[in-house]
Amino acid sequence: MPGPERLKDKPYHHDGPRPDCPRCGSSQAKPVVYGFVDVGEYLELDGRTPDFELGGLAPKSENWCCGQCGHRWKGV
Ligand SMILES: [Zn+2]
Repeated sequence: MPGPERLKDKPYHHDGPRPDCPRCGSSQAKPVVYGFVDVGEYLELDGRTPDFELGGLAPKSENWCCGQCGHRWKGV
């Protein structure tokens, strides 16, 4: 069986500029992370507040989620 994915390789934090929500204009966009995420383990590793939205196990093209209205969209 393959081991769990390395948490550090996942984009839990987006350090670059964030897009504004195309629906409500909020700047509270969060990256959408797909696949299995062990948040407890993540917190032990880093100690920072998780800043992502869980997208589920099946990857989709939407990679941003608005923290204000919940809208998801595909961006850079
Ligand atoms: Zn929004």
